[in-house]
Parts: sequence; structure tokens; C-alpha cells
Amino acid sequence: MLLISDEKTLSRELDSLRKSGKLINFIPTMGNLHLGHSSLFKKSENTEEIRVVSIFVNPLQFNEDEDFDNYPRTIESDKKKLLAEGVDILFLPDAQIINVVKFVFRLGHISRKLCGIDRSGHFEGVAKIILKFLDLIKPDFITLGEKDYQQLLVIKKIIKDFKMKTKVKPCPTVRDKDGIALSSRNKLLGKKISLARYIPTVLKQITLEINDGRFELHRLKYFKDYLEKSGINRVHYLEILNENNLSSLTKVPCVSRIFIAVSIDGIRLIDNMRIEPKLACSRSGMLIVS
Ligand code: AMP
Repeated sequence: MLLISDEKTLSRELDSLRKSGKLINFIPTMGNLHLGHSSLFKKSENTEEIRVVSIFVNPLQFNEDEDFDNYPRTIESDKKKLLAEGVDILFLPDAQIINVVKFVFRLGHISRKLCGIDRSGHFEGVAKIILKFLDLIKPDFITLGEKDYQQLLVIKKIIKDFKMKTKVKPCPTVRDKDGIALSSRNKLLGKKISLARYIPTVLKQITLEINDGRFELHRLKYFKDYLEKSGINRVHYLEILNENNLSSLTKVPCVSRIFIAVSIDGIRLIDNMRIEPKLACSRSGMLIVS
């Protein structure tokens, strides 16, 4: 595995790999790698593919200094995991990489929903660094987890708006035995991780009720209260939205997702679950399954 910090060296290396017919698959991360990340590193059928993983804890996407400072950093064990996965290049940019990003982004509607409501500037911070990486690496593919579904949509929008050729490879969320979505933040919870179990339980229960045709949108308030009574300090949102554009459900059937963000002891956790049948919303708030 090549370990590169310098942008020029990375460009040179990738240019020569491209010339020899290789395709570049880019996997951006903030490190503290777990099995959720590993699922993104799995080699695709294409043996000509070079996997480039970046590890960079991007200060632009944190709203609070404390959250940024506390973010788990485990670079030495991360390197060992990447070696074991057979990753080709690890890009570890210097902190100054953020200084060169001068764009002001207009990400529109999708950045103002869900996490965009109470994490002002978060997605603009993600967009700045991702645009820098895409411009530098010019990957054929970018592999992203559906765990951060809103981020995935934001990155898709950047690629489309800047008319880039990069294709997005989405990967399903990896969960532990209790259904909790793996996240680098989980270890900050200590014993309170047991509370995080309520998240997948509620998501599954909602999916079940929808499939049984007995779910109305006002039930979301019931589940929000249930979570807060169970010991979760705050439910930031619990919503069912169109998965393509995060718009509210209308009379037109669409593929949708349940989205949730909570805080436990100040640690923010997010999750989402796809609803398999197409949904539409009646005037009374009744969900219609089709
Ligand atoms: P992060 O290091 O948290 O910024 O995540 C880097 C990439 O890993 C993003 O594309 C995430 O969506 C993805 N990821 C994080 N956790 C999981 C998970 N549990 N399952 C699948 N992908 C994940």
C-alpha cells in the first residue's frame, strides 16, 4: 500500500496508473475504521480497479470544536486494517488542504432538510472537501455508505452540477448484532450504547406497520416521544421522505426512506431505512402503499 500525503505525488501516481488502463475507485473516510468502512473497501469484480482511501477528519463539517476534538483518531490501527484489506493507496492529506477550497456552495433543498436544519454549514463543509478530492483524484468511481444517506445525495448533486464523470457506488449500512448502524461515534457512548438499540427497533417497527397498511404519519410523533421516554436525550428528527430528493411524500407514489437523528449524552447518531413498497400520502396523512 502506498502512503501519500502530498497532492502532487498523488496526482502523478494516479496519472501513471490511469495510463496503464487502471480505473480509480475513491473511498473517502474520517478514519477510526470499522466493519462498515470495510464493506466499502471490498474489491469489485473489476480487477483493473485501484482503491484509493482517504483519511481526513474534516474540520469544515463539524459544528462544534469539542465534537471535532473528540472525534476518535486511530491512524496506526487504521493503516493495519487497510493493509489487510489490500487497499492500494492511502491518502492522508495535510490539514492545509482545506485552505485552498474557495467555493461558496449552493446545495439547495437537499442540504436544508434533516441534518441541514440544526447543523448549519455542515453539508457545505462536506461539499468543499469532497470537491477538492474529486478534482484532485478524478476517480472513475466513488464508493459511499448509505448510512450517511443525505451526504450521499449531496455528493451525487456535486458530481452532477460539476458535470463530472465519476459514478457513485452506494453500499448498504452495516449493523451490529442488535441492528445498531456501525459508526465511529458509537464507542464514545460507552455503556449508553444500549440506548442506541431503540433506533433500529423503531425503524423496523415503522416499516412493519407501513407494510401492514396501518401506518399514519402522525404515528411518527408517538415514536419520537417513545424514544425520548426510553432515555435518548433528544430526537432531532424522525421523518419519512422521498429517497431521491428528500421531499415530503405527496399523492404521487415514490420510493422512500425513514430518516432519524438522535443525541445520547451529546453524541449525535444518525440512521435511515429504505421502505420497499412505493408510498404516497393521502390528504389525511394516511400512507398508501403501492
Ligand atoms: P466516515 O468515516 O464516518 O466519514 O464514513 C466514511 C464512509 O463510510 C461514508 O461513505 C459512510 O457512509 C460509510 N460508512 C460509515 N459507517 C457505515 C456503516 N455502518 N455501513 C456502511 N457504510 C458506512
